[in-house]
Amino acid sequence: MLEDGKFGKYGGIFVPELIIPALEELEEAFYKYKDDPEFNEELKFYLKEFAGRPTNLYFAENLSKKFGCRVYLKREDMLHTGAHKINNTLGQGLLAKYMGKTRLIAETGAGQHGIATAVVGALFKLPADVYMGSEDVERQKMNVFRMELSGGKVIPVETGSKTLKDAINEAFRDWITNVENTHYLIGSTMGPHPYPTMVKHFQSVIGEEARRQIMEKEGKLPDAVIACVGGGSNAMGIFAGFAADDEVELIGVEGGGDGTETPRTGATLCKGTEGILHGSLSFVLQDQDGQINEAHSVSAGLDYPGVGPEHAHMKVTGRANYVAVTNKEALRGFELLSKYEGIIPALESSHAVAYAEKYASMEENKGKTIIINLSGRGDKDMFIVAKEMGVEV
Ligand SMILES: *Cc1c(COP(=O)(O)O)cnc(C)c1O
Repeated sequence: MLEDGKFGKYGGIFVPELIIPALEELEEAFYKYKDDPEFNEELKFYLKEFAGRPTNLYFAENLSKKFGCRVYLKREDMLHTGAHKINNTLGQGLLAKYMGKTRLIAETGAGQHGIATAVVGALFKLPADVYMGSEDVERQKMNVFRMELSGGKVIPVETGSKTLKDAINEAFRDWITNVENTHYLIGSTMGPHPYPTMVKHFQSVIGEEARRQIMEKEGKLPDAVIACVGGGSNAMGIFAGFAADDEVELIGVEGGGDGTETPRTGATLCKGTEGILHGSLSFVLQDQDGQINEAHSVSAGLDYPGVGPEHAHMKVTGRANYVAVTNKEALRGFELLSKYEGIIPALESSHAVAYAEKYASMEENKGKTIIINLSGRGDKDMFIVAKEMGVEV
């Protein structure tokens, strides 16, 4: 029997009747194994030996001096495949194995989640079919190649706008037909229940570690935790460690694109309205008729017109604040961290860095301790950044 999967009024299960049995089976397995000692022992092994956990909580001394705050970086960029996504793909991949599934499917936008799924498929010997909009296939040839090298099969999607949201629709279609042997490995805290809860669970290792590490290093909790928000999984993962500590300010940073006052933005919580997308009620970028708008951000991972429903709940209850940072500001964040710390962040994470600078510049925040979740590394973004900076490489 499925729970309602709600966060306040958000979340839930808004899917065709045909998908319900698959969600029921998944919910049952997730609740069965999430507290199972053998499952957790094995997951812990792979998180450590394959992915490289725990990640460091690094005191960024130079940036701290520049900002006038104590700045810590949670180094998810140091994980295998270069971002936090592997925490979730290892968790769900292992769950699929325990469920006796013999095939993985996934959606991917720029390809990062597809890569994290393909490598887990290789590790667990599960073939992985990755749905990807044909526009994205064209734009991200290198990532398609990386997925294929790890044995993933990329299936170009020609419907709709031929991007991420269409890839998700196609993946659901596949799942309905092949649920017997197939697990649909969703890449963020979105979709119908139990996905938002399950993905948060597998990402909450970030927050658990960060809380322990900051207590060791500072002897107290941070004043603020800042993370970028696309679908919301890296933010939800680190927020989870501090959500019960009311004194810790939680700040989610969305991809503002050209600015929230323009149509070219990915700031779903800042600019969107309530609506249903991909199986749950949350905030959505849509027009007055409920047609989904195209999202835009210089960083592919923040380029999604929806957002995880628990973030919607945290926004309306005020537990977390959501802000937007423009492409231009994010590029400054990218350059700042590279120059001051010798750490090249993903463009997604650069949004969190950029907002941290703004936060630190406010008079009332002088001297505060902040943790930035460095969700990924920037190698994948080199060509985009060089182009934006007018540098030829
Ligand atoms: C995919 C991605 C994101 C955005 O996804 P969330 O689910 O919001 O975390 C952020 N940072 C990096 C490095 C990514 O690859």
